This record gives sequence, C-alpha cells and structure tokens, in this order.
Amino acid sequence: CGIVGYAGGQSALDVVVAGLKRLEYRGYDSAGVAVLSDGGLAAAKKAGKLVNLEKELVDRPLAGGSVGIGHTRWATHGGPTDVNAHPHLDNAGRVAVVHNGIIENFAALREELADRGHDLASETDTEVVAHLLAEEFSSAGDLAEAMRLVCRRLDGAFTLVAVHADQPEVVVGARRNSPLVVGVGEGENFLASDVSAFIAHTRSAIELGQDQVVELTRDGVTVTDFDGAPAEVRAYHVDWDASA
Ligand code: GLU
Repeated sequence: CGIVGYAGGQSALDVVVAGLKRLEYRGYDSAGVAVLSDGGLAAAKKAGKLVNLEKELVDRPLAGGSVGIGHTRWATHGGPTDVNAHPHLDNAGRVAVVHNGIIENFAALREELADRGHDLASETDTEVVAHLLAEEFSSAGDLAEAMRLVCRRLDGAFTLVAVHADQPEVVVGARRNSPLVVGVGEGENFLASDVSAFIAHTRSAIELGQDQVVELTRDGVTVTDFDGAPAEVRAYHVDWDASA
C-alpha cells in the first residue's frame, strides 16, 4: 500500500518510519522496514498499526544504517500477519523487497522456486520476488540488473523496492501499473509510492514511467526500462501545500 526507500546521510530507519507515517492516511494492516548496515541486512515487521512496529523496534533495535526501505501493507494474498507483512527476504537473508500491487503469476513462480529448493515462508504473492532477486543477483552481481530480469518474468501490477546486503549503497525500485516517485535531495535520495512520504525533505521529484527500473544511491538516480536502455523520465517540482 505505502512504500518508502532511502539512501543518504541520515538514519534510514528514522526517515523511513517518518515516511510511512506520512502514508498512513492510505490505510494499511501491517508495516515493516529493512536497513543495511555493517555488511548485513536487518528487518522488522509487524501486523497492525505502525505503533506496533515502533514498539518492536524499541524491544529489538535494528543496527543503524543510512540505506533502508519500508512498507505499509494492505493484504491481498495472505492474511494480515507478521509473517505476511513486508519486507520479504530470501532464504540467505541478503535481499529484502517491499511490494504494492499483485503479482498475477506468483503461483507458478512459487512452484518453480520450491522445485529449486527455495523455502517460502509466507502466503503472499510478493515473496517470490525476494527469492528471484537473490537468484538473479548471484549471477548478475547487480541489483538493478537483477530487478530488470525479474520484472520481465512478472505479470500484474507492481511497485517493487529492494535492497541487497552485497550492494549496500543501493536501493532499487521498479514499477508497472502502480506508482513510484523519486525524491531528489542533496546527498540523499528517496523513493516512495506517493510524494507525501518525502516532501518534508525535498520537493524535487521524478515520476517513473511504465515498466521502468530506478537505481538510487545517496548521490545518484539512474532510470532504465526493463531491458536496461536509458529511460525518459519526468522531473517536476512538488508545489502543493504539504502541511495539510
Ligand atoms: N499483494 C501484496 C500482499 O498482499 C501487496 C499488497 C499491498 O499492495 O500492500 O502482500
């Protein structure tokens, strides 16, 4: 339902949780975050309101880092449980992904992954993406390229945002039939399903087009189509009053 990604100099956890709060008005049933730090990936997710996640983060603090992602979920496949909440991780716990929308061909992909020895923990359509990204990353060695390869295999509507512990400076996003916006800051960049997640930080935005992948670091934004060709994007200034 709501998605936030961050790469910059601030605490990713603080920026992402604050961004999720700005998206609460959309409604949701669970929430979660993943942060990259010290060569690893740490995640927390909870059914219920954001306050449940915040309590979890007090009880079980995540190592701080400056690259992270977050999600508020509105369940379509699998009930609103902790396990079904996003982010979803691969079996090695190296990649984390959040998703808005529906992956129509998830059942076939699940079966295929199970045949290759993957252990899927949730009932969501989303989890297949984490496992597919892990597989593609192991040969491509690049998360944006892995995302392009995976997206070409997905049917349906999706905004996807992912991080990988082996490329810890990068956040990657992708979209088809579901919105994704980049917030361009100074020494920090944002990804969100909706500009309200980042307008407290920047009003310089880039709207992603259909079937595009974005690679975000604290200093750069690169957008391609699903085949890797440089893509046309629309940059604009968010001038509506955000205080409302
Ligand atoms: N289909 C996904 C799920 O049920 C994502 C739902 C959403 O857009 O929040 O987990």
